[in-house]
Amino acid sequence: MQYMDPFTAECEHCGYTDKYDLEELQKYQSHCKKCNLILKQTADQMHKNMKAHDLELWPTHLIFEAFDVWGGDIDSVTDSEFDAVETVFDLLTLVQSKLNMAGYPQISELPMVKDYVVSCNQESLLKMKLTELALAVMDD
Ligand SMILES: [Zn+2]
Repeated sequence: MQYMDPFTAECEHCGYTDKYDLEELQKYQSHCKKCNLILKQTADQMHKNMKAHDLELWPTHLIFEAFDVWGGDIDSVTDSEFDAVETVFDLLTLVQSKLNMAGYPQISELPMVKDYVVSCNQESLLKMKLTELALAVMDD
C-alpha cells in the first residue's frame, strides 16, 4: 500500500489540515502545525489499513510460496482454481494435482507458516481457511 509523501492529514484535535512527512507521521512524530499536538489518529488509521491490506494478500503469497517451494508452475493454475482455494486442504490438493505428487505435501515445509503449524493439530489445520491461518500467523 502506497501513501502520498508528504501526506495530507487533518489534526484530530483542532481540525487543521496540512501536509506532513509520511515517515514521521507513521512513527507518531508529527505535531500539528497549528496546535502542536501529536497527530495520532492518522497514523493509527494507516497502520490499520496496512494490516488489513497485508491480511488480504497473505493467502495469495502463500499459494505462490507453495508453488515455489514444491517446484510447481504457478502459471498452470487458472484464475478459477486460484479463487477456489479456501482452506489449507484446498491448497495442498491443488499442489498435489498440479505436481502429480504421490502423497500430500506437508504444509510445515512452507517458511511462511512452519513456525506456527508445528504446534497445530494437523486435522484441524487442514480445515482451516487461509484467511484464518493468516490471522493466526500474523498475530503469532
Ligand atoms: Zn491541531
